[in-house]
Amino acid sequence: MSGTAARARRHPPLSMLHLQGGGCGGCGLEIEALLADGRLDAVGLLLVEAPRHADLLLVSGTVGRNLLDAVLATWTAMAEPKWLVAAGACALDGGPFRDGYAVSGGIDQHLPVSLVIPGCPPTPDAVLAGLRLLLDALRATPDLSPPPPPARPALPPAALPHRRAGGDSSGG
Ligand code: SF4
Repeated sequence: MSGTAARARRHPPLSMLHLQGGGCGGCGLEIEALLADGRLDAVGLLLVEAPRHADLLLVSGTVGRNLLDAVLATWTAMAEPKWLVAAGACALDGGPFRDGYAVSGGIDQHLPVSLVIPGCPPTPDAVLAGLRLLLDALRATPDLSPPPPPARPALPPAALPHRRAGGDSSGG
């Protein structure tokens, strides 16, 4: 049993809501593959559909101007403490669509991001690894308080999207 799985057994499960924005849909497919294979259960993470039941909000795809209000409303409806995860280049900064008139930039321009999972798209393994990092950090915190700002990024600097470091946001 992995360390994460062992810790998951000692802690109540956390719950996660997934919001898929625009973009090409690749991130959504990869995340759906992860959600379907049962590995979230093994790390103590439950998928929910109601914001009021969610501890984590996982956002992937572009956050278009027509979606931003819904994302903000979803976040507002979630109870504290809560954490936001941005998965994929589109969620980080619009990715290949960042210059589109309908894209409202990265989600971190609007909400505090606790975890960045780079990639275009991130694989199911990469998404799971990122979520494990966050879960381990939260479970090491006795009261599950939100991480102090700036929470971004949770991944090592080398794993950050390239645009932050030098121009290309493909991230992997
Ligand atoms: S980050 Fe890449 S794979 Fe994911 S939605 Fe955007 S273009 Fe598609």
